[in-house]
Amino acid sequence: MRFLAEALAELIAPTRCAGCELPGTLLCPSCDRDLPRIESHHACAHCGAPYGALVCTECWSTEFAFEAAVALGVLDAPLARAVVLYKDANERRLGALLGTMLGTVVSEAWGSWPDVVTWVPPTDAALRRRGFDHAASIAKAVAVEIDRPAHSTLRRTRARDQRALSKAERARNAAGTFRLLDSPFKLQGSQVLVVDDVLTTGATLDACAEALLAAGVCAVRVAVVARAW
Ligand SMILES: [Zn+2]
Ligand SMILES: [Zn+2]
Repeated sequence: MRFLAEALAELIAPTRCAGCELPGTLLCPSCDRDLPRIESHHACAHCGAPYGALVCTECWSTEFAFEAAVALGVLDAPLARAVVLYKDANERRLGALLGTMLGTVVSEAWGSWPDVVTWVPPTDAALRRRGFDHAASIAKAVAVEIDRPAHSTLRRTRARDQRALSKAERARNAAGTFRLLDSPFKLQGSQVLVVDDVLTTGATLDACAEALLAAGVCAVRVAVVARAW
């Protein structure tokens, strides 16, 4: 039955490469090769910017609450297209694919550092618009890849879409936006990895890290699929 359902789904909406629309695969070998990956030895260890290993112009004047960041790649084609297809064109299978790839980056950078993997919760408006929690699927695939548990730990207290805001407005909007959920996982004293799809100014992830640290978490690092640049 499952095979039949998959075959039918394939007939209605054939699987296509997220980068070039080649049929039959979510990411073809050529687009995989062309993915604008960030080389961790060139990247800023603090904010994940692609060329900030020595002096990072993105974050040298910014104090983030999270101690380190990694990204799979730069928010550029074909990765940018994959993120859009995943979030806004309902190609949900990309969540697991991108999460698994990001998990490899995390384990190369930090081994099995985190005690738990969590993610940036969506705004109510984004959840209604998309119908799914987009960062959750990515985070769960990261967690499987690095063999750590994944738990939902945060909720939003105020919802305002970050996308139309300036850098300063984003920082103001994000501050105090997150509260802790009751979680079966004991966060106090733990090392937490927060996952999201894109890091732009870092304000949202910074606010998540602040909320977790205020709850007694000992350290927060972040991992994102794409770093805006
Ligand atoms: Zn392709
Ligand atoms: Zn930086």
